[in-house]
Amino acid sequence: MVSCQWLMSSPFQSTKQASGKTLSPQGRGTKSSIMDGHREGMPHFVLVPLMTQGHMIPMTDLALLLADRGVLVSFITTPCNAARIKDTIHRARDSGLPIRFVELPFPGAEEGLAEGWENIDDLPRAELYINFYRATYLLQQPLELYLQGQQQPYPSVIISDFCHPWTLKVARNLRIPRVTFFSMPCFTLLCTFNIWRYKVYERIADEHQPFTVPGLREKIEVTRAQASEFFPGPIFENIAKDVREAEFAADGIVVNSFQDLEHAYIEGYQEAMGKIVWTTGPLFLRSRSIADMAIRGRKASIDVDHCLSWLGTMKPRSVLYVGFGSLTRTDPSQLMDIGLGLEASDHPFIWVMRYSEESAEKIEPWLAGGFEERVGSRALIIKGWAPQLMILSHPAIGGFLTHCGWNSTLEAISAGIPMITWPHFTDQFLNERMIVDVLKVGVPVGVKEPNFIGMQRSETLVSRNDVERSVRSLMDEGKEGEERRQRAERLGEKANAAMKEGRGSSHSNVTRLIEHFSANATV
Ligand code: UDP
Repeated sequence: MVSCQWLMSSPFQSTKQASGKTLSPQGRGTKSSIMDGHREGMPHFVLVPLMTQGHMIPMTDLALLLADRGVLVSFITTPCNAARIKDTIHRARDSGLPIRFVELPFPGAEEGLAEGWENIDDLPRAELYINFYRATYLLQQPLELYLQGQQQPYPSVIISDFCHPWTLKVARNLRIPRVTFFSMPCFTLLCTFNIWRYKVYERIADEHQPFTVPGLREKIEVTRAQASEFFPGPIFENIAKDVREAEFAADGIVVNSFQDLEHAYIEGYQEAMGKIVWTTGPLFLRSRSIADMAIRGRKASIDVDHCLSWLGTMKPRSVLYVGFGSLTRTDPSQLMDIGLGLEASDHPFIWVMRYSEESAEKIEPWLAGGFEERVGSRALIIKGWAPQLMILSHPAIGGFLTHCGWNSTLEAISAGIPMITWPHFTDQFLNERMIVDVLKVGVPVGVKEPNFIGMQRSETLVSRNDVERSVRSLMDEGKEGEERRQRAERLGEKANAAMKEGRGSSHSNVTRLIEHFSANATV
């Protein structure tokens, strides 16, 4: 059981639910202190993130970015999720940013979830995902009641994660426009849309048969197993339908991407959807301070200063960073193969390991029984949560073995770092195609089979030889590697330029987004 009691005394707003009612926000943070940073005439944006790191982190960045511009932001969360980002909340408060962190009690118990399971990464078994999503639907009424009470100013727009289709009802009932948010590239969104539009899966019986995604300029090949629906199978059928409907009904789409990365795909997706697509990323580039980078998502499981001083001892671009995001769990035999491949590659590395409690019994003795000693000071192992953005931004990092989650991908792109691609599930196989085939800044590890979210496959999908081969190919300094690195560096420059005040495309899109939902704003 997890307690999230710290927020009871938090300086930020919280709502307490009693007998199904959401009461007015309470707390030490006075309305006037939050309203101080809100510029006269600027709109009120309500942000509703999905409670999982890969969705909450970019939505938090978007909230901070909008608040920097004087927009009043209501960031909808739950007590345990607010507890995770308490350092971010404190920093926002100390900077006088006009953000309300609104806690709605999470109705997980009504769907059979234990107390404290308020984030997808809290769920111990994949079968509980459906319960989690059903519980999120129960937030509709509390959110509606909360927003009804917000008159000064009344919400101008709801920006909702695409996985919360129920916010469409909130928006309709309260007559507030609603925008869908994706932290996924338009490339992947357009591929997914075209697979659906051309009914590809009605014609393909074998889920391992490669097919070419229709309607694209480039030849992009995947299998159904790799590019399966985001909400697959009969159990998620209703949610998948709601998600599609809410995407079509949206009053616009915000995407964590940028023009110079995928101009043609942004246009293609915009045309396909028939609505404005605002690309506003990479959102995390809002702040480059070590303090901000070190507290993203949750507290790091390593001393940040130790990590920085270890990186400081390494040559520029010499270290490989290995991390598979927030949801993957790797089987001990697969972890051992990764370790042996990294060891054989002879390159320094930082390896973020995430495994279940049962796996710990096997993997920890293996690490302590020779591996850690053999790799010695050329390796830094982080068990748990890494300060990933801070690490990737360090000049010593020269490559990233990634699961192709879009936030991780965008973090590598912005740092000008080439990648080894090892997709696991959902959008990641399509993201891999973008990294390898479109941007040409990746070396595939060669995995063909998904390793579904919340599941831990017992067989080894990638051999130690594949790990060693791909690390050598990415990190070694031949002509091909050098050209890949140069392409990655150019993309990094473009990513940073997109966020620049004045001429940056994403900076201008944020301005347009604010203007679009302002009645009489001067931005
Ligand atoms: N992350 C982190 N430390 C970790 C693991 C992940 O800071 O140990 C961050 C990472 O920088 C990224 C996000 O969590 O911003 C993960 O999002 P992504 O889309 O890459 O993958 P997901 O976790 O959704 O699969």
